[in-house]
Amino acid sequence: MLNDKIALVTGGSRGIGRAICIKLASLGAMVGINYVSNPDAAQETLNTIQSAGGKGFISKFDVSSADAVQAAIKDINEQHGSIDILVNNAGVTRDGLMARMKETDWDTVLDTNLKGAFTCTKAATRAMMKKRWGRVVNITSVIGFLGNGGQVNYGAAKAGMVGMSKSMARELAARNITVNCVAPGYILTDMTDGLPEDIQDAIKKQIPLGSFGTPEDVAGAVAFLVSPESNYVTGQAIHVNGGMYMGN
Ligand code: NDP
Repeated sequence: MLNDKIALVTGGSRGIGRAICIKLASLGAMVGINYVSNPDAAQETLNTIQSAGGKGFISKFDVSSADAVQAAIKDINEQHGSIDILVNNAGVTRDGLMARMKETDWDTVLDTNLKGAFTCTKAATRAMMKKRWGRVVNITSVIGFLGNGGQVNYGAAKAGMVGMSKSMARELAARNITVNCVAPGYILTDMTDGLPEDIQDAIKKQIPLGSFGTPEDVAGAVAFLVSPESNYVTGQAIHVNGGMYMGN
């Protein structure tokens, strides 16, 4: 289905990004696995893709640095062919109550989760515009819709992604580039692993389907949004959250 496509997944080495990389590779795409600090995880993801007969490569860069993003995307376009599919998935948390939140905690989360998606999309869509085809999927969060005490930085970044995606979708539609969001609820990854068990139990009580999701649940929604099945879908958010939030 994605046989002649080049995809780049930021933060593709672990968790949700890893599952997205494996899914897109299984559909035939050549997948760029981006990471910033843990080369072993990126290599493990590439090995998993290749041992299943898929194609991929690793691209180390920090999405929060506009210069690094531009250089890396130029390099990918030259070495592997221009990016057709971009999944902005890299994200971090620096949780804490607002009264005690440091400016650096705000900046790190906004620079990585929101500005990173902006700079990656700006750089990658240049070639998509020339080709008159492209797919951008931004991984936001249920927190961007519901809010969460202790996460004003994260909630701002994730809600910002939604408004940014709708504006990008309007700008890029004429070039046949769609921009959509996937908004996961609580998914089992390193990011949520650290939550104390009593908090995990309290969260599960708010989830109608009764459990946390898996990275593969999120990857399925991304696969839909880059497939021909969603050619007429842009500016939308698909909620993958077990029913804990049903609005839009
Ligand atoms: P993980 O913490 O498991 O993985 C984060 C990934 O992002 C890693 O590959 C990491 O690379 C990479 N990364 C972090 N900072 C940067 C950076 N500056 N530049 C490039 N890559 C970076 O996260 P999850 O898989 O849990 O989350 C993935 C996305 O899904 C995030 O955007 C998150 O906000 C969102 N999400 C997650 C939910 C969950 O319940 N887990 C719920 C809702 C949304 P490295 O290992 O090299 O540092």
